[in-house]
Amino acid sequence: MTAPKEMKEEFPILKRNVHGKQLIYLDSSATTQKPQQVLDALRHFYTTSNANVHRVVHTLGEEATALYEQTRKKVADFVRASTEEIVFTRGTTDSINMLACMLESSVQPDDEVMISAMEHHSNLIPWQQLCKRRNAKLVVVGMNQEYEIDPADLKAKLSEKTKIVSFVHVSHVLGVINPVRELIKIIRNKNKEARIVVDGAQAVAHLAVDVKSIDCDFYVFSAHKMYGPTGVGVLYGKKALLDKLEPASFGGGMITSVSFEKSTWLDSPHKFEPGTPNIADVIAFGTAIDFMQRDDVKKAQEQEKDLIKLAHAELSKLSSVTILGPKDCSKRSGLIAFTVKDLHPHDVATGLDQYGVAVRAGHHCAMPLHKKLGIDASTRMSFAVYNTKEDVKTTLEALKKTIAALKK
Ligand code: PMP
Repeated sequence: MTAPKEMKEEFPILKRNVHGKQLIYLDSSATTQKPQQVLDALRHFYTTSNANVHRVVHTLGEEATALYEQTRKKVADFVRASTEEIVFTRGTTDSINMLACMLESSVQPDDEVMISAMEHHSNLIPWQQLCKRRNAKLVVVGMNQEYEIDPADLKAKLSEKTKIVSFVHVSHVLGVINPVRELIKIIRNKNKEARIVVDGAQAVAHLAVDVKSIDCDFYVFSAHKMYGPTGVGVLYGKKALLDKLEPASFGGGMITSVSFEKSTWLDSPHKFEPGTPNIADVIAFGTAIDFMQRDDVKKAQEQEKDLIKLAHAELSKLSSVTILGPKDCSKRSGLIAFTVKDLHPHDVATGLDQYGVAVRAGHHCAMPLHKKLGIDASTRMSFAVYNTKEDVKTTLEALKKTIAALKK
């Protein structure tokens, strides 16, 4: 079994030097790096089994189809769903846009679609545009003092007009883990008809997710934030709901019959996956899930909590630094964003880059949240299983030097 410290060895890119320094990658909330076995899976597929999937009888086609469908099973098991409930998409953004399109007809003029104040633009704009098309209202739920979605505000704003509620599991800026089960209970108690979407983009690589116990209607996430390739996402939906929904796009591979007058669809998930899917990347995503289920990787995932505590404690010692999000680290997952008094986050990130440390700076696709916090931008460090305490310590030293140099 690999010790967490040796986990880095499995990620070839982490051997890189940046500005003559050993790379410390703290931008995994944007995208994680990929372990060798995922890189190998991509190459292996293209060199041994490459063919189109479904409706094929030749050997390569059957192999490709089996591997593609095996990933669906792995994803289903990973989030405790069944295979008919797992639709492959291009990513979280694509999954949400598909939902906004497929749920559109349930929204009438003056109806309401509800999101929270901390949403990524990808879980805001698709709903905003849906409201614009349907003359409906976008309602925004606020945060409590611990920066969670405020249950009291949610309760107060829900009504029979609420048709869709879509909110994030783990915030990509505040790092807060929202109490999704409790929030969903509140919604179901007040409005049984509202469809509930959870954006799990920042949760799946850090927390055990059980969509059945969460009791959401839909749960969406991206493979590239889970050690898998870019260009693959997941839309989980309760089977009974997917059965009723019309697809958002149409074409080959999704039909039972076609005539010039009328077409009929296969069952879910195939009716939602027209055209040639992203076969190789889906298959390599299956390998990423195998990676995530190794005991040592799960252990390293547990240890991310210590990295957050350490980074939080060290950042708190710096008088010019303000940390965004909850003070209680047990409410956090994956990341810490902060501001430095009188310094622009881009300058801080550029300064850290000189020490080989990769962090993200900007509004992180959450302009309304930053506005609510009274800032334009922030710097974010985010963690994954390949990060160590040494990474955090080196980064904090680099941050102190950067602040000192910029404040001169
Ligand atoms: N939601 C959240 C919370 C995110 O962090 C992200 C990615 N930063 C997205 C949605 C969008 O994911 P993608 O770019 O993979 O579609």
